[in-house]
Amino acid sequence: MEHITCKKCGSANYVKNGIVRNKQRYRCKDCKCNFTQGDNRGKISVQAKALAVLLYGSAKASYGMIARIFNVSRPTVLYWIKSIGAKLPEPNIDNCQVSPGC
Ligand SMILES: [Zn+2]
Repeated sequence: MEHITCKKCGSANYVKNGIVRNKQRYRCKDCKCNFTQGDNRGKISVQAKALAVLLYGSAKASYGMIARIFNVSRPTVLYWIKSIGAKLPEPNIDNCQVSPGC
């Protein structure tokens, strides 16, 4: 059987707490969060998301291609790019420094 730990705090101190989307849901006794096993939620690192945004930003990778690389859905990729993009500063297009007057 798969070793089950809480996705938030890593505790193995959990109880079964119903079924959601045909999957067993567990409730962590330590941090009180609910979690399921067998999906990718919470398993993708920040570094992987940053790489996805870089791939997308290079204009050589589509949502679908990134989704296949990381084995997630296309809306997930869209969400990563939106959420990481929202933290970046606005590009300053009024103050072009490449050549004056452009
Ligand atoms: Zn927990």
